[in-house]
Amino acid sequence: MKYAIGIDIGGTKSAIGLITDTGEVVAKTSIPTDPAVSPYVMVERIAASAMSLISESQIDTSLISGVGIGAPGPLDTRSGRLTVPPNLPSWHDFPLVQEMSRLFPFPVKLENDATAACLAEKWLGAAQDADHFVFITISTGIGAGLYMHGKLITGASGNAGDVGHFVIDPAAGECVCGQRGCWEYIASGTAVARQASEKLGREVSSKEAFDLAAAGDLQMKELVDQVFRYIGIGCVTLINTLDPQKIVIGGGVSQVGEPLFQAVQSYVSAHALNPIGRKTPIVPAALLQDAGLIGAAALVHTEY
Ligand code: ADP
Ligand code: ZN
Repeated sequence: MKYAIGIDIGGTKSAIGLITDTGEVVAKTSIPTDPAVSPYVMVERIAASAMSLISESQIDTSLISGVGIGAPGPLDTRSGRLTVPPNLPSWHDFPLVQEMSRLFPFPVKLENDATAACLAEKWLGAAQDADHFVFITISTGIGAGLYMHGKLITGASGNAGDVGHFVIDPAAGECVCGQRGCWEYIASGTAVARQASEKLGREVSSKEAFDLAAAGDLQMKELVDQVFRYIGIGCVTLINTLDPQKIVIGGGVSQVGEPLFQAVQSYVSAHALNPIGRKTPIVPAALLQDAGLIGAAALVHTEY
């Protein structure tokens, strides 16, 4: 049995786990990603947490194959740096791989978090049978991982799949990237909460907006239907571009379940250009809880 140290760096917390080569999470912990603390200190905390997981689990370090890291983009996997991640302002241009390599006596691998989660779905999740698929995560933002011809598509610098910034409705407001009406600006969990709060004149979470729509609130139903349509539009663009065998959707908003998957499937069946594309299955991600950690570990345990 071999082990990987999986690290999933997020804007609010970072998860750290020990994962076997069959994908079992044997130990895990998480620490807050404190924006007031320098990333040099944060990585020391992360490494210390990983080392204590190893000693608590009494795993011989000779059994550890490496460290896999999933981190928010944009990044540059060629130099092992994060570049300008909007949710981690103090980490801009941070040499993550170099610093982790200084702290760990194991090889370190880095990919953006959606790409890593995509690999996890191929390894152990909803896309084990697919040689061509797209993984979309709809959460605070929208991201994707691309897997084509039996290989993970990372792009030249690890940023392939930044589909959250497809422009879907240029008449909508301005996104963090400076364009107007990006997919994540109008269809992420954050976008649902923002639009629902505007409509109802009070603070509404994305989950509450979906719940109100399901309970028959007309205003919320109109919003949610529009969001499902936007998700459908993005899926059709991906199907027309990449011709995947399936699309796997994860992230907080995918918890909405059946209504979302039905609406998106129906949009795709009406609007994808080619008849095969119209039948592309749109399925929920299988790895929910530990997708980030398993994806990070997959960078170590699998060939991609
Ligand atoms: P992160 O973006 O940090 O990876 P999540 O994948 O949990 O986190 O996504 C968080 C987003 O998903 C938030 O906008 C939240 O409102 C939304 N969300 C989480 N759970 C649900 C749910 N059950 N129904 C609808 N939206 C949800
Ligand atoms: Zn954008």
